[in-house]
Amino acid sequence: MRALAPHQISLLKQQGLGSYPLVTAEQIHGHAVALVTESSASPFEGVDGLLTTTRGITLGISVADCAPVWLVAKNGSAGGLLHSGKKGTELGIVPEGIRTLCSTAHLLPQDLILIIGPCIRPPCYEVDFAGDIRRQAIEAGISSIHDDGICTACHPESYYSYRRELGLTGRMLATLTLLPQ
Ligand SMILES: [Zn+2]
Repeated sequence: MRALAPHQISLLKQQGLGSYPLVTAEQIHGHAVALVTESSASPFEGVDGLLTTTRGITLGISVADCAPVWLVAKNGSAGGLLHSGKKGTELGIVPEGIRTLCSTAHLLPQDLILIIGPCIRPPCYEVDFAGDIRRQAIEAGISSIHDDGICTACHPESYYSYRRELGLTGRMLATLTLLPQ
């Protein structure tokens, strides 16, 4: 399950990201986040969120119904990628990621943009964790929040869905790279 599909590697290459090291997270549905540097091993053990201020490293989080959440500094100096499903959202990985990224990169919450990616949502799922993520972000002081409201279970042509496919499914790879200047 950790193996990257060849098409994901070729997509990274198509986007001009093929030469950057990819660091993924072990993803244990927890709330721990880690700072990724040039010397970080992949997958980063014990965490569900990856943060970086280093250019030229691609962060990767696998999802299939849980939300990928991007945190990006408006000035381009830092970014993070979080795996926030029902459990991770309850445990507060989003506020944890915001706090840690701000303290690491000397930023304020209002310096960040938060993006919620495709994930399973009501009525396909009984818990509106995307709504909870939005509330957590607002409480943390973020005002720039983007969410296209896409439900993975409603779009079998575009997204894998763990629940729709009863567990026999692939994973999507969300990525974030701070490009070298
Ligand atoms: Zn749906």
